[in-house]
Order: sequence, then structure tokens, then C-alpha cells
Amino acid sequence: FSTATAAVEEPISPPVQINYTKLLINGQFVDSASGKTFPTLDPRTGEVIAHVAEGDTEDINRAVSAARKAFDEGPWPKMPAYERARVLLRFADLVEKHSDELAALETWDNGKTYEQAATAELPTFVRLFHYYAGWADKIHGLTAPADGPHHVQILHEPIGVAGQIIPWNFPLLMFAWKIGPALATGNTVVLKTAEQTPLTALYVAKLFHEAGLPPGVLNVISGYGPTAGAALASHMDVDKLAFTGSTDTGKIVLELAAKSNLKPVTLELGGKSPFIVCEDADIDKAVEEAHFALFFNQGQCCCAGSRTFVHERVYDEFLEKAKARALRRTVGDPFRKGVEQGPQIDSEQFDKVLRYIKSGVDSNATLECGGERIGSKGFFIQPTVFSNVQDNMLIAKDEIFGPVQSILKFKDLDEVIKRANATRYGLAAGVYTKNIDTANTLSRGLRAGTVWINCFDVFDAAIPFGGYKMSGHGREKGFYSLQNYLQVKAVVTPLKNPAW
Ligand code: NAD
Repeated sequence: FSTATAAVEEPISPPVQINYTKLLINGQFVDSASGKTFPTLDPRTGEVIAHVAEGDTEDINRAVSAARKAFDEGPWPKMPAYERARVLLRFADLVEKHSDELAALETWDNGKTYEQAATAELPTFVRLFHYYAGWADKIHGLTAPADGPHHVQILHEPIGVAGQIIPWNFPLLMFAWKIGPALATGNTVVLKTAEQTPLTALYVAKLFHEAGLPPGVLNVISGYGPTAGAALASHMDVDKLAFTGSTDTGKIVLELAAKSNLKPVTLELGGKSPFIVCEDADIDKAVEEAHFALFFNQGQCCCAGSRTFVHERVYDEFLEKAKARALRRTVGDPFRKGVEQGPQIDSEQFDKVLRYIKSGVDSNATLECGGERIGSKGFFIQPTVFSNVQDNMLIAKDEIFGPVQSILKFKDLDEVIKRANATRYGLAAGVYTKNIDTANTLSRGLRAGTVWINCFDVFDAAIPFGGYKMSGHGREKGFYSLQNYLQVKAVVTPLKNPAW
């Protein structure tokens, strides 16, 4: 149905059974030490899907001990790298075999469309494990030409027990980005999933064990941030922390890591990415890409193109077409074919998005379309477009994380570079132009970890992703992510015959 529809139809029953709701520690599904559980909800209705074991400090301690033992006693870090690669490949095959159920479970727990989960996320997940399996037996050391008669070897070793904390917006992809490089390089892991979306990680972790992963190498703890997440970030026996989530929580975990054992931390945080449409752009394509850049995944993307800057000469045409496109966007049950947008993840995010829409109206941006909830059940919001947005408005400064497009006008390149960079974030940027000089000027001038030119959200496994400024530290995916999980050891030996 279209955005004009006032009620959401009865949801389709997801064709999947929930088999895994306990914590995964040392290769076994176990209850939490406290015996407590928490509900995970269906964003289409707000109803409970399942009760999941709630991990806390004691469970994190148990999981870290298991990961420690699996690291110290092996076999994982010391087994032939090719054997590790084969486990990753077998795992990827199993995920591919179970793709339909996994996509359904992801849609059910998260609210994203089944089509997106099945045709984009599952294949990307599988490809990422193939990519990192390929790296497993290609982690080479170096030698260094030191002054003096010394033979210098530089070894790249796994760092140890990795603690990883992920958000709810891409539960499976965040699992892959974290687990792929960590396991390929021989580390062991304790992963804390987001409390809103615990289900698919447990399912794939089970498949990992079927693929031959030794017990203790991957431990999965469901639970809340300030309890289980904080226990992991501050654990004295965790050697490295990788976090994806909001910038505010990133600051907390960085502090916890510093105050405990100074474990190194990589952070993938928020964004307020510019999407710049130049006067020479193909306007129809730019409208479609800018729409996708913002509305994809219900607007719940850290790199969403949430400030659409449009050159003044094409502004009116762009605006009219962007509004028409948003009005055509189909919102509804994410299991239904053809639906482009499902519900927001939960009532907290839903309320936050509606508050930002009100703030846009109150600050005199022009509400071109949308702005209301859809139906009375679940967390559906109309695709919303604001024009006449000014840089100092909250909707142009804060991460909304919802289906709200803000359109701003610009006159020239120097001005738009300055304005695009005038944010505490620096995760990504989009540029639409047919002029190579304009593309080069913008890609050099923009302070962001990714610049997509005439495209957006291209997430190939080989492309590094991460932020400048308060969007984070370090890069995930590609070759760069391996470095997050490797220690560098210099081994120096005197040379008996310096001539050699
Ligand atoms: P969040 O920071 O509240 O939660 C993320 C994770 O951190 C969850 O697992 C949560 O339980 C945990 N957490 C919360 N408080 C914690 C604490 N005190 N100690 C340890 N862990 C804690 O973020 P969110 O609202 O769930 O996710 C949305 C945010 O994530 C957005 O800001 C978005 O931009 C960001 N994000 C970034 C990327 C990226 O790659 N840069 C990807 C996805 C999402």
C-alpha cells in the first residue's frame, strides 16, 4: 500500500521457527547465570517474538574465560591457516543454504524488508566470509633492513580475545564485519549483540559450530549495553574491543577500555553524511540515488545521506521529483513483496524520529510530505521530506536515524565543501556530477571515510569503511580490518656473518 494508507494490513506470519534463544558459551547454548530473560519484539506490531537469555557480568566472565582458554590452549590460533579458512568457507556455505530462514528471522526481529535481507544482506554476508577466508592464509610478516648486523623478522600475530559489541540496524552484516577478520586472523571472540535484535547471531553461531569451529572460539551473549556491554568493554582479560553504535556510547566504551586494561578500541559510530547534487548531474538518477541514500533500511543507516545539498539551478526540479518519489515509496509489512519500507526498530527510535520531524516543522523547514505515523500498531512512519532546511537546524545537525530527507540549497563548490564538512561527523558522502573535475574537487575536499561518486552504499567486502572525526576510529572490511586484529612482533637476531 502507499504512504497515504492509514492502517497497516495484518502482518504475514514469518515462515521460521525460533530455535536458539540462550547464550552461546564454549560451544554450548546455556541459560544466563541469573536465569533472567528479556523479550525481543516484532517491530511490525510491538508484540513479543521470543524471550531470550539475558547475559550480564557473570556470563561475560564465563564467555571471556572460554575465549581465553580457546586462544591460549588452541587449536584455533595455531592451526594451519588454511584449516581456519576452510571452516570459514564451510560456514559461508551453510549460511547460504539457510539464507531463506535467516532472511525471514532478520526481517521479523528487525523490521527490514525480506527482499532486502534475502537479496542484499545474506549474499553480502556470505561474500564477506569468502573474502576473509581468502585472507586467512595470506597474513605475511615482513623483514626490516636494520642498521648493524641484525636479522629482523616482523611477525603478525593474532591479538588474543576480542570483545565485540554490535547494533541492531544490520544485525547480520555487523556480525560479519566483526567476526570475519577476527577469526580469519586466529583470534577468539566474545560478541555482545544488540538487545533489540539477538536472534540471527545465535542462529549463525550455531551454523559456525556445525562448520567445525572449535568450542570457545566464538561466544555470543545477548543482553543490554550498560550491563553485559559494559562488562565486556571493561574486562581485564579482553585484549581488543571493537564497537559499532552511537557516538555517545562509543565515548563510554572507550573510557571503560582505558580505565580497565587499556585494550585498543576500534569504533564505528554515527554520521550525518552529505549527498551533493551538482548542477550538471543527471537529475532523475540523482533523485533516485539520494532517495535510496536516505530511506534505505528505514533511514536507519549510520552513513545515510541525511543532508541532501542541491545546486540552486536544479533545486526546484530536484525537489519536485524527490517529493514525488517519497510519495510513491511503499510502506507496509516488510514480508510483503514490493514493500520498500518496513517499521522503525522500536518505540524509542520511533518516538525520536517523530520528535525530530516536529523540530523540523517548529524551526520552519518546509514539510513537503509525510511527517506522520502510519497505522496505530507497530512503528511505521511516512517517508518524510523537508525543504528549505538551514545548516543550523537540528534536523540538519543531528543523526535522525529515520525516513526523513532534509534538502538544502547551495551555490558553489567551495561553499558546499565547507558546509558539508561543518559537522562533528565524517563517515561518508555522496556526490552526483558528470564532471570529473567537480568529482575530484569534492572527493578531495570532503572529510569523510567514504566518498561515493554517482553511487551510494556500495559495501563490497574489499572496500574499507569507517569514519573521520567523531564517526569513529579505524576501518572495517577490506585489508585494513585485518590490522585491527593483529599484533606486530619484532624478532631480532645477531647475524653471524654480517656480509649476508
Ligand atoms: P547504541 O550505542 O545505543 O547501541 C549499540 C550497542 O552498544 C548495543 O549493543 C548496545 O547494547 C551497546 N551499548 C549501549 N550502551 C552501552 C554501554 N554503556 N556499554 C557498552 N555497550 C553499550 O546505538 P544504537 O542506538 O543501538 O544504534 C544506532 C547507532 O549506531 C547510530 O548512531 C548509528 O549511526 C550507529 N551505527 C554506526 C555504524 C557504523 O558502522 N559506523 C553502523 C551501524 C550503526
